[in-house]
Amino acid sequence: MEPTPHLTLARVPPRTPPAHGAERSLLPRRVIPPLWREARAGSLLLNMLREELRPAPPGPTCGPPVLLVPGVFAGDASLAPLASTLSDQGWAVWPSGIRSNVGCSGAIVQRLVTRLEAIVPDHGRVALVGHSRGGLLARATAQRRPDLVSGVVTLGSPHRDQLAVHPLLWANVMTLAALGSLGVPGFLRFGCRGTDDCCSGYDHDVAASLPPGIGAISVFSRRDGVVDWRACVDPDATNVEVEATHCGMPSDPATLRAILSAVASFDSSQSSPHLEPVAWPAAA
Ligand SMILES: [Zn+2]
Repeated sequence: MEPTPHLTLARVPPRTPPAHGAERSLLPRRVIPPLWREARAGSLLLNMLREELRPAPPGPTCGPPVLLVPGVFAGDASLAPLASTLSDQGWAVWPSGIRSNVGCSGAIVQRLVTRLEAIVPDHGRVALVGHSRGGLLARATAQRRPDLVSGVVTLGSPHRDQLAVHPLLWANVMTLAALGSLGVPGFLRFGCRGTDDCCSGYDHDVAASLPPGIGAISVFSRRDGVVDWRACVDPDATNVEVEATHCGMPSDPATLRAILSAVASFDSSQSSPHLEPVAWPAAA
């Protein structure tokens, strides 16, 4: 395997308190990521759909466990190619159980914790790999139950400011929150920005440093056309820069090398016996 191009940035913005700063604002941010670079998203989507028509990846094998968390609006099927790559390398890959990542953050984190509680007793601590919003959920999950997590890899996840995204995505998220606030079931709400009990402490858990003993790798790209890459840089983690687009990151070769290197460096602190294969979920 080629060496992973780790890039630990020497100068990054200082960590700011997440709960009371401007990043709590629901207004769109001034920085507009180069969305045009995501033009390949259409072909990537077609590739993704083709992947979903293929037989399910082999599922867990005998390596340490890895749990994949998809990005906003996406489901586990969107990470099927990444799951296949990890499985091919011997990792035991588990889906998050998310069919469409549009729900209350607090509720999703609780479901992820429940899933980890089912995996860890027999297979050891789990490495979490999350794309975009999935990385934010992974960080919050690790904060809640650091005893269940060996490390977190985030791919284009704006943990420093969750709404540091392109205005088009911001508008879609606001629409989602409006529908949820009007009572549409299964959607997040405006109160999920920390004012409702369901997501109390979530913003803090996303932005705070991960606890000692938990590996932390943040993969970001200045070519990211959806998320402001500056919001992805973690002053307390290893930051890996790639040249992928936001949507293409989970299938980008350099990103895949970074993920493989990262999960290999995490300590699951427990031997991992053989796991029975499980079917990867179909698209929502
Ligand atoms: Zn909520």
